[in-house]
Amino acid sequence: MDRKTCTSCREDKSVSMFYKDRHLKSGLQSSCKNCVDARKHAWKAKNPKKFAETQKRYRDNNIEKMAKRQKEHYQENREALVEKRREYVENNKDKVHARNMDYYYKNRDVILKARKPYQKKWRQENLEKNAMATARRRSLRRNRVLGGKYTELDELVLSEAHIAAKERTKEFGFPWHVDHMIPLAGKIASGLDCAWNIQVIPAYLNTSKRNKHIMTEPLEWLRYI
Ligand SMILES: [Zn+2]
Repeated sequence: MDRKTCTSCREDKSVSMFYKDRHLKSGLQSSCKNCVDARKHAWKAKNPKKFAETQKRYRDNNIEKMAKRQKEHYQENREALVEKRREYVENNKDKVHARNMDYYYKNRDVILKARKPYQKKWRQENLEKNAMATARRRSLRRNRVLGGKYTELDELVLSEAHIAAKERTKEFGFPWHVDHMIPLAGKIASGLDCAWNIQVIPAYLNTSKRNKHIMTEPLEWLRYI
């Protein structure tokens, strides 16, 4: 038997178009999937409260089954779900941000505690990023950023400088610093934290420089090595 007539719409359909019902002799429901779905949908629309109750009862009685099914569904559709999620976040940035902040404030203590071990690890792995963030905060606080805002070029040069400092430190075996040719808080002049005032020099030079107003020209520091 590979075809069956639906008792509702009277159409002759393939048996794959009927839901299974092991309580019936035929093993299939008498109405086709379309008719069953339509009836279910109509009932749901007419009895929203009852429907919610039924669903809740089912969920409560089948917690493990539901969890298992959910897990399986996730594993089978992982890539598509991740992509969908990414798309949603991209299109709802404000909403997602607001929800994250709300969640953060409500669960602040737990989050901060859980984050601690990772934070330390992150800091160690991102030393140059961390040094840069600290330097930026300091410069902004001292009003040494023109107009209170870094230009795109400043951003680029600063980030390259911090990476270079880290790389040279590794390569030469002694520490290198990101330095301001004209110091941010100098005796004679106060420099800006901007692309034109940045150099990467050995840390011992940076320390000996103090506020002497030397090494204020590009590559001048090479004479002091
Ligand atoms: Zn039907």
